[in-house]
Amino acid sequence: MSFIDKKKPILVTGASGYIASWIIKLMLDDGYTVHGTVRSLQQKEKIAHLLDLEKNAPGKLTLFEADLLEEESFKEAMTGCELVIHTASPFFVQGIKNAHEQLIKPALEGTQNVLDTANETTTVKRVVLTSSVASVFGDAIDIKNVSGGKFDEKNWNITSTDRHQPYAYSKTIAEKDAWRMVNEQDRWDLLVINPGFVMGPSLSKRVDSTSIDFMRSMVNGKFATGVPDLYFSIVDVRDVAQAHINAGIMEKASGRHILVAESIHTMDIAKTLQNKFEKKYKLPKAALPNFMLYLVGPFMNFSWKYLKRNLGVPYAFDNAYSKKDLGIVYKPFTQTITEHVEQLDRDGLI
Ligand code: NAP
Repeated sequence: MSFIDKKKPILVTGASGYIASWIIKLMLDDGYTVHGTVRSLQQKEKIAHLLDLEKNAPGKLTLFEADLLEEESFKEAMTGCELVIHTASPFFVQGIKNAHEQLIKPALEGTQNVLDTANETTTVKRVVLTSSVASVFGDAIDIKNVSGGKFDEKNWNITSTDRHQPYAYSKTIAEKDAWRMVNEQDRWDLLVINPGFVMGPSLSKRVDSTSIDFMRSMVNGKFATGVPDLYFSIVDVRDVAQAHINAGIMEKASGRHILVAESIHTMDIAKTLQNKFEKKYKLPKAALPNFMLYLVGPFMNFSWKYLKRNLGVPYAFDNAYSKKDLGIVYKPFTQTITEHVEQLDRDGLI
């Protein structure tokens, strides 16, 4: 039962993104009126799939232009909304030239900008922020300082900086500031979703999202000689979308929520795809020896510090709170990655 009035619009920022598109689809299918923000309405290839979603759904979608770094940018789209789902934030970990401009400023100032507008918009009752497990931990080796051997919602990333893991740093300071801002008023409350690495079928044919780029790399031969000896915490994009919606509409839900189905090794992904698709793709056959990564790592944008703190270190998450508070039932990672590759293939993206 939703405590959000279904007759009023719901704002989803970053509507054209991989995760936001699924949030919008599920909301439209459930009859909600959605206001989505995109950076430009002129970029038709980024929004075409959103317009298609509306065609077969009972809900209604209106798109607005807004940029994280433009003050008051979200004002029109937020007008009349009780619920704001703030997903927009740059997500990439490779090819960073200026971490402050490309990641930190849009994440932090963008969140402040959206929350400033929530403060001015008297209808807003709840904000759901898309954070990340990157706000919970910085490097795999941080697990050594966690009692019980699993990260949970009490943990915060204290090891990332603007120079080491700047994406993780951007998500950490943006989330921290959101918790500061919610405490300075008492009209709206804040719920946070902290997903692991999100995989699963995309609703658009965009390939610039980090999740999609990674999955394409697994099947298009980029890692044919071997994958790095790394562990990932995987979660299905559809489960992440449902978690945002449940966080938005379940009155008693509260706090941060780690969203991770399973923590696995890169070779587990390769093996699952080998079993399913056999020789169809140029899949990785083994993990690269770690000494080799130290040699080639810097050319692949892996710093030695990153390798030292992450290679070969397993880590895990406690996902119990997301199940209890939001009722999430996780899809197994084998289904997630299989259906992701099937979508990429169907859409001619491999
Ligand atoms: P995505 O497909 O790259 O979406 C990112 C969205 O942010 C896009 O809609 C993008 O707009 C928007 N954006 C970036 N800079 C912006 C700016 N200056 N002004 C307005 N909008 C801007 O990535 P995603 O995976 O869906 O990520 C969505 C959120 O989930 C992010 O907050 C990310 O940190 C978080 N997250 C993702 C994962 C994951 O594995 N995918 C895991 C944990 C958390 P354009 O469409 O115009 O580019």
